[in-house]
Formats: sequence, structure tokens, C-alpha cells
Amino acid sequence: MAVTVFSQLDKSLHEHLATLVRLASAGDDETAVELARSELPRLVAALRALLAEHSPDEHGRCPTCRSSRWSRRLPAPCRAYLGTQLALTVAAESPGRRKHLRSAV
Ligand SMILES: [Zn+2]
Repeated sequence: MAVTVFSQLDKSLHEHLATLVRLASAGDDETAVELARSELPRLVAALRALLAEHSPDEHGRCPTCRSSRWSRRLPAPCRAYLGTQLALTVAAESPGRRKHLRSAV
């Protein structure tokens, strides 16, 4: 039951994200601006919430990740934190996007 609910949520989330990417890349300028203003703050809030859950505690360990149920917390930055950082860095360094961002500054 829980798996089914998760599957539906996951599918819905991925469909929403795919729609955002499609509109951002293929939509006209007006659509892209509206999308940035309405959806970008939500995406940033979601990323911040995710990163906050994986930010190191006072012992330098991720408060969320463990290698198994009974193990100690893992050293930070954990894979979730690094994966998010990497995805954002790689996206920012893609040639077309970087040029666009630079010209906008
Ligand atoms: Zn973590």
C-alpha cells in the first residue's frame, strides 16, 4: 500500500519536473519568464529543505543518513548533499547556460 502511494507521488513529481524542463527549454520567452517567477522559488525552497535535512550536525555527521538502521550517522557531506551540489554545479557549468547567465549579469 505504502509503495503504491509512494509510486504515485513519485510519478506525479517526476511528471511535474519533466513539464517544467520542457516548458523552460521549448516554451516562448513569456512562458519562460512566468515559469522562472512562479516555479523557481518553489524549486529553491525544495532544495533548501532537502539540503537542510542533510546539513552536518554538531559532530560533522548527516542527521538523516545512516548506512543501516542501527549504524551511526554518516560523515557529512553525505551522498544526498553531494549529489545535489554536483547536479547544481554541473547544470551551472553547461556551456549555453553559463554564457546566458553571464550575459544577464
Ligand atoms: Zn544525508
